[in-house]
Amino acid sequence: MRKACLATFVLMCACALRVAAQSDPSLLPETTTRISEHVYAIMGFPNIAIVVGTRGTLVVDTGLGPRNGATIAGVVKKLSPGGLLYLTTTHFHPEHAAGEGGFPSGTILIRDRVQQQEMEAHGAEMVTRFSQQSAQRAELLANVKMRQPDIVFDTETKVDLGGVTARLLWMGEAHTKGDELIFVEPDSTLISGDVVQNKRVPGIYMEGGTPSSWVGVLDKLAPLNPRHILPDHSDPGDGSLIAQERAFIVDLQTRSLALKRQGTSAEDVGKRLTDEFKTKYPDWPNINAVAGFVQRVYAEGR
Ligand SMILES: [Zn+2]
Repeated sequence: MRKACLATFVLMCACALRVAAQSDPSLLPETTTRISEHVYAIMGFPNIAIVVGTRGTLVVDTGLGPRNGATIAGVVKKLSPGGLLYLTTTHFHPEHAAGEGGFPSGTILIRDRVQQQEMEAHGAEMVTRFSQQSAQRAELLANVKMRQPDIVFDTETKVDLGGVTARLLWMGEAHTKGDELIFVEPDSTLISGDVVQNKRVPGIYMEGGTPSSWVGVLDKLAPLNPRHILPDHSDPGDGSLIAQERAFIVDLQTRSLALKRQGTSAEDVGKRLTDEFKTKYPDWPNINAVAGFVQRVYAEGR
């Protein structure tokens, strides 16, 4: 009896922790988990990847504001044998990039060129927008300053960390224009940002990409054939997440365009497909985002 109670309690705690971790902007070191031989992740908003080699460590994404950046730096100290510390960001949004100030001086910041241009055009505006969402977010983002990256690349750069190499890739526009993907070898682990998620309706932000350009990025990613995938806002999975993401986008795109050809308005299609996809994809938690994606299909046309 007592054992059963304890088991239920532990189960409840684990669930509560997971839910809290996916929406609370404060990263917790105790959520750190191992994804593959050289890749660890702090699970939270967003999931932060830490790639550890014998000569250096690469962190992917910063958390929301410098305090979260400092939390990550604390976890890095425990996991890493030392050496150079590299930092890169999957895209320019504040929970991915605005914690850079919490990292130690000497951290080597790397970013793809398109993302850097997006950061310069819209970074400050996004920090303001996030700050207006809650008092907690405003506090975490107070006095955030963005600095120039140390290394900017066009489509690919490699970081040799000693026994493990990270390939930093820009393959085109999807969630944003500058989405960066990180492929870790020999682990065969893809750190996928928002581009490949685990059962989450995709969202294109501001200028971003288009439904078709997103599919194009997925088609370039597929041949990497990753064994593990760590998305930023959902649970880790295996390589099948790429095909799952593609199938969902194509399904939504095809249904939207069929209804568009019948003369239905984007608004009506959004409502109708939200209901339809709720039944078709019952375990996707943010199905209400379908309507926003339908707008993007209409905007792209065809
Ligand atoms: Zn984002």
